[in-house]
Amino acid sequence: MAVPLLDLKPQNLALEPELTAAFSRVLRSGYYILGPELDRFEAAMAELCGVRHALGVSSGTDAILLALMSLGIGPGDEVIVPSFTFFATGGCVSRVGATPVFADVDPVTFNLQAAEVERHLTPRTRAVIPVHLFGQAADLDPLLDLLRPRGIPVVEDAAQALGARYQGRPVGALGTFGAFSFFPSKNLGAFGDAGLLTTDDDALADRARLLRLHGARPKYYHHAVGANFRMDALQAALLAVKVPHYARYTAQRRANAADYTARLSRLPGAGLAGAGQGLRLILPTVVSEPDHIWNQYTIRVPGPGRRDALRAFLTERSIGTEIYYPVPLHAQPCFAPPPGIARPTLPVSELLAAEVLSLPIYPELTADQRTEVVEAIAGFLATGR
Ligand SMILES: *Cc1c(COP(=O)(O)O)cnc(C)c1O
Repeated sequence: MAVPLLDLKPQNLALEPELTAAFSRVLRSGYYILGPELDRFEAAMAELCGVRHALGVSSGTDAILLALMSLGIGPGDEVIVPSFTFFATGGCVSRVGATPVFADVDPVTFNLQAAEVERHLTPRTRAVIPVHLFGQAADLDPLLDLLRPRGIPVVEDAAQALGARYQGRPVGALGTFGAFSFFPSKNLGAFGDAGLLTTDDDALADRARLLRLHGARPKYYHHAVGANFRMDALQAALLAVKVPHYARYTAQRRANAADYTARLSRLPGAGLAGAGQGLRLILPTVVSEPDHIWNQYTIRVPGPGRRDALRAFLTERSIGTEIYYPVPLHAQPCFAPPPGIARPTLPVSELLAAEVLSLPIYPELTADQRTEVVEAIAGFLATGR
């Protein structure tokens, strides 16, 4: 039996009548960008995220970009980002003309920590972008305690973490801005690109709303140079069909993760990070039980070449996996420092890039498919590799 890394069809086809109806409604409305469908969706998202303002935008990348533009960040400014993340977290900093400063992450949670951020603070630091990687919140309180007195805003990259919580509070509502993505492989997946920007700050929300529409207010009177960051009415209408099911999708992901962890932890040499030396398979650590939303279930396979060997072993058995992410940002060619300046060394990000492997975790994964994955991994370990 094949086990794909992700199959979008079962979730979306189960809603085909409602999705088709939403499509027809938009088709007949003649209103295809922003508009009443988006207003309704934004209200639902503001409630889900526990924020005063939620703006539908063109993608998760554009949500981060719009946050930085709304904060007025530009040339000469530095923004601290984790190196172990998706490209957009750092790319958006360069796109506003500022300098991304890459910080290392925690090997247990994969997330940015306050002590590491503090090492990189300079008088030019204008923002920090913690990422809630794989659906688990970064440790925000120490970060906010460090940055608030200095007046440095936090932009949460919550692209992988819609509905995840930090000490009971929804992510995206704790920093100055939260950026979410509805890319189809995210936990709430659209039918194309879409994203969301959240904030509790009325003035910043107003600024972001202005910049989302080329800085025009009214139309054709431009107060600032913004861009086209608009979300389609169609994406809003289709996503709104999926919102009432979102809690169930998350519960299913949590059940899949709990099942993996229970069964994989019984394999010889498998355990949580810190469970002793010589682990051959490191399982993901959950900092706080009900808060993780499992965009990815990511294991570590220590030892030279072992991660790639396990991946090849699973591929041969038609089990899909992915490496999120094989190259940390500080090692990407586009972020190479100018000639004569050495690249920074960020040992944890480099180690994780060599060891991580994400397993299928999507909500509709069946018990038989999970068994197949666990047994294949057991088979790999039994070969002595
Ligand atoms: C997906 C993702 C983004 C970008 O979202 P898009 O909607 O694909 O533009 C940004 N940051 C992280 C961590 C992501 O996973």
